[in-house]
Amino acid sequence: MAENNGHYGIIIIGSGPAGFTAAIYAARGGVTSCLFGGIAPGGQLLLTTEIENFPGFPEPIAGPDLMTAMLKQAKRLGAEIMTDHAAAVDLSVKPFTVTSSSGARVTADALIVATGARARWLGLPSEMKYVGKGVSGCATCDGFFYRGKEVCVIGGGDSAVEDALFLTKFAVKVYLVHRRDALRANFRLQDKLRKNKKIEVVYDSVLDEVTGDERVSAARIKNVKTGELRVLPTPGVFIAIGHTPVTEMFKGKLNLDDSGYIVADERTRTSVCGVFAAGDVTDHRYKQAIVAAGTGCKAALEALQHIEKIKEA
Ligand code: NAP
Repeated sequence: MAENNGHYGIIIIGSGPAGFTAAIYAARGGVTSCLFGGIAPGGQLLLTTEIENFPGFPEPIAGPDLMTAMLKQAKRLGAEIMTDHAAAVDLSVKPFTVTSSSGARVTADALIVATGARARWLGLPSEMKYVGKGVSGCATCDGFFYRGKEVCVIGGGDSAVEDALFLTKFAVKVYLVHRRDALRANFRLQDKLRKNKKIEVVYDSVLDEVTGDERVSAARIKNVKTGELRVLPTPGVFIAIGHTPVTEMFKGKLNLDDSGYIVADERTRTSVCGVFAAGDVTDHRYKQAIVAAGTGCKAALEALQHIEKIKEA
């Protein structure tokens, strides 16, 4: 059995805005804390080029730069950052135990889960090549950069239709490319879509390839019924085929909803007393860095209060 390397007040799993904010508040709250950030701490924002909607930055800031700043801030305040993955958790006994991928075991009085949700990608090599260079998983984050341009959204669910509608604020035309002949999105959104003259829905079609030089210049789509190829000249391709919350480690240990997100109340409390969840791992709806940071703050404040209660008992 691996050696037990230490006990902390709070362990945080995840290194996006929720995790780092929780670490900052935990450190300021005067308890020992340890954050498992993985080999490349930063979460989904590492895939974003420029961020213009995180308050406090009058000029755009690159996603990785924002995450590095959060990391430095958490470290300066005393949070311990492990460049290791949390591989397993034991929530059945207190203190909670987290075992890392290298075999280190640490324990804590409170645990904050901030493991996030991964945007789903189609898996095309050309799509991956252009992530952050015209291919995006977040219309709210990147739509602004396509003012006056034509863009393309892939997907047929609520997210894809919402993204397409949102993008019409900036783009002159939005192609919504869906693999079937009927959208999955709810009626209200479909109604709005029908009324929006800037959107062309391309049914029965899939993204075949993304092309360009340094950045995207076109999307080639293929009709799945006829095999016909069509080239859409566009600098922006938004993939909106859903997200997968990173919760494999918590199955059977915390209550998850039907889509696998952790169920947490408005105080970030989960089904296990002393375990709190923050950020996209609990968030179907917003998936914004600032919202994640806010819930990370809440989770840390709740965890600090939980530790106080343990001391008083
Ligand atoms: P979703 O409902 O799972 O829809 C994903 C869409 O992407 C579907 O249309 C699906 O096609 C398509 N898709 C999946 N894999 C694909 C692939 N490999 N190639 C091409 N297309 C693919 O995901 P979501 O839209 O992100 O919504 C997730 C949840 O959040 C839902 O419960 C939704 O109702 C909720 N949500 C609600 C709102 C709102 O109420 N305003 C906004 C956003 C999200 P098929 O239809 O053919 O399966």
